[in-house]
Amino acid sequence: MTTCIPAGSGNLHYSVAPCRGQGYRKTSWVSGVAFNRCIQKELLWSCGVSKFLQTQRCNYSKSPFSENWKSFRTVTSSCLRDGSTKYFDFAVIGSGVAGLRYALEVARHGSVAVITKAEPHESNTNYAQGGVSAVLCPPDSVESHMHDTIVAGAYLCDEETVRIVCTEGPDRIRELIAMGASFDHGEDGNLHLTREGGHSHRRIVHAADMTGREIERALLEAVVYDPNIFVFEHHFAIDLLTCQDGSDTVCLGVDTMNTETQEVIRFISKVTLLASGGVGHIYPSTTNPLVATGDGMAMAHRAQAVISNMEFVQFHPTALADEGLPVKPSKPRENAFLITEAVRGDGGILYNLSMERFMPSYDERAELAPRDVVARSIDDQLKKRNEKYVLLDISHKPRKNILSRFPNIAAECLQYGLDITCQPVPVVPAAHYMCGGVRAGLQGETDVRGLYVAGEVACTGLHGANRLASNSLLEALVFARRAVQPSIDHMKSSKHDLGTSNWWSRPVVPFSLGSETMEKILLMTRKVRRELQSIMWEYVGIIRSTIRLQFAEQKIGELEAKWEEYLFQQGWEPTMVGLEACEMRNLFCCAKLVVSSALARHESRGLHYTIDFPNLEESKRLPTVILPGSSVKGTWSSRQLHKQPL
Ligand SMILES: Cc1cc2nc3c(=O)[nH]c(=O)nc-3n(C[C@H](O)[C@H](O)[C@H](O)COP(=O)(O)OP(=O)(O)OC[C@H]3O[C@@H](n4cnc5c(N)ncnc54)[C@H](O)[C@@H]3O)c2cc1C
Repeated sequence: MTTCIPAGSGNLHYSVAPCRGQGYRKTSWVSGVAFNRCIQKELLWSCGVSKFLQTQRCNYSKSPFSENWKSFRTVTSSCLRDGSTKYFDFAVIGSGVAGLRYALEVARHGSVAVITKAEPHESNTNYAQGGVSAVLCPPDSVESHMHDTIVAGAYLCDEETVRIVCTEGPDRIRELIAMGASFDHGEDGNLHLTREGGHSHRRIVHAADMTGREIERALLEAVVYDPNIFVFEHHFAIDLLTCQDGSDTVCLGVDTMNTETQEVIRFISKVTLLASGGVGHIYPSTTNPLVATGDGMAMAHRAQAVISNMEFVQFHPTALADEGLPVKPSKPRENAFLITEAVRGDGGILYNLSMERFMPSYDERAELAPRDVVARSIDDQLKKRNEKYVLLDISHKPRKNILSRFPNIAAECLQYGLDITCQPVPVVPAAHYMCGGVRAGLQGETDVRGLYVAGEVACTGLHGANRLASNSLLEALVFARRAVQPSIDHMKSSKHDLGTSNWWSRPVVPFSLGSETMEKILLMTRKVRRELQSIMWEYVGIIRSTIRLQFAEQKIGELEAKWEEYLFQQGWEPTMVGLEACEMRNLFCCAKLVVSSALARHESRGLHYTIDFPNLEESKRLPTVILPGSSVKGTWSSRQLHKQPL
């Protein structure tokens, strides 16, 4: 089925590539901000860098995007090295769809730092296969999309949020297209739409089975050409910088560590957007790339933001089960390879190892049931039959269609001796998506003034107890845009004196401990990480019980105490920072948030299924809320690293 939107349509005027052979508009990276004299020098220095970057941008040839990015990156890291404090109107943490989309809008009003912990493209966004859902063609309707979202979310969704996202979604897609994102089209020249589990219509816009990669490419390309945006790659955000204004907590930026130079860089900003994605790596098997360690949720929790619905961890039912491949990967993968929902949407059938189709006996929607139902059904089959994986078969469809629709999956499987056009694919559930996160209002605002959230890190109320397939890229796009106007208003009205960068003590890189001690700490941290992941998988997985959750809570507490004790015995101090140690404290923090939220929900709803409360209870149809400083025991991982303002 195709939509009514012709290729390349979209009437949004996007201000990209102002540099191609036309000279540049003057960079005004400080927009209407009354900075005091003492920081003027740093501002001027940064303007100098901005000019240098502009020159580089002018030199872009027609080489592929990745090469452009490479030259941009080299300039960035070599030129921005000398200042340990940087001042921006907007700091954006994360370079996935949410962070980049927001950055491109606010950059029209001020200077923007995009801070990202690895290569700019490395994000969940980049791995998204299936697509983005939006109502683009009759007989589909906003009401139908809303209904599907609310049913999948087990009636825990916030109806107003759902309406907003489903209504604004189509415009967000048109904007992406106007910016150069290229999605698949049917023979009639209109967008090709697919259908996925839980959707009652074909409404998934996609770029083969690499939709996220295409979105990320288009957004990064636009960012490269925007003179007001500065990308700081390999900058790990450690903690938000906050102060108290009466009873309000206010965010004034973020401390980061350049993981290549080991320098601590402080970003002072009037507005901060947290767009740091998910937390898949609290589990041993996840479809998320290595960057998804819940840093944003943990940082926000430490900074007194309210966290919500963390018990709702989505396990994708069909990640590639390496054990079932004819040729096994030579080493364990960092993240599980996803077999997109769209395979089931396009007619893929699930079998157990006796080639019995099992889904119809669990749910009348069979393979097209929502993910939680499919994941639990597979889990049940595996446990009952004591098998390691089930099979997903699409080979009954024409070979040509399979290859054009799923080229990425076909190529990946073929590498390991499996031809998906004539053989079934071994699959198993893996941690995939966090429905909970930092509680956000309708414009992405949080309980911390000056701090906004968008994307997977946020809990907007869209997903409720379970995310409908392809609704997360959509949510990220919609909320990244909705956060723009209040951010600009906040930036313009901000009266904070940004010269106070020394209010907070600085985190310290532990050079003083020596390389031998650091090596020991690293090895211990990696071991502890694996232990935490296995506790989460064993006791906080797809099927839960109170006793197992309590056991997990106790085990995690003990493990964290043991790890911290080891670090401090080695001479570690509370203000010290290292990439893996900081990730570890964030993983601990998020794992505890998941467990305490799961323990608080005395019913089974959506992704949270517990044998002790197996039914849905109307009286419990409320979000789980974790207030700052409550329920999670205070440890190193739940405290901000720096002291409160001096
Ligand atoms: C394999 C896979 C397939 C998916 N398929 C789909 C799909 O088809 N449709 C759909 O709607 N959704 C899909 N999703 C979910 C969707 O991709 C994500 O929810 C969405 O991309 C999140 O976007 P984001 O911008 O919030 O976060 P991300 O894209 O994850 O970006 C987060 C960014 O924050 C950075 N970051 C994290 N921590 C720090 C830190 N401490 N300091 C600095 N930077 C940091 C990361 O490096 C990254 O750049 C899929 C997810 C996966 C993993």
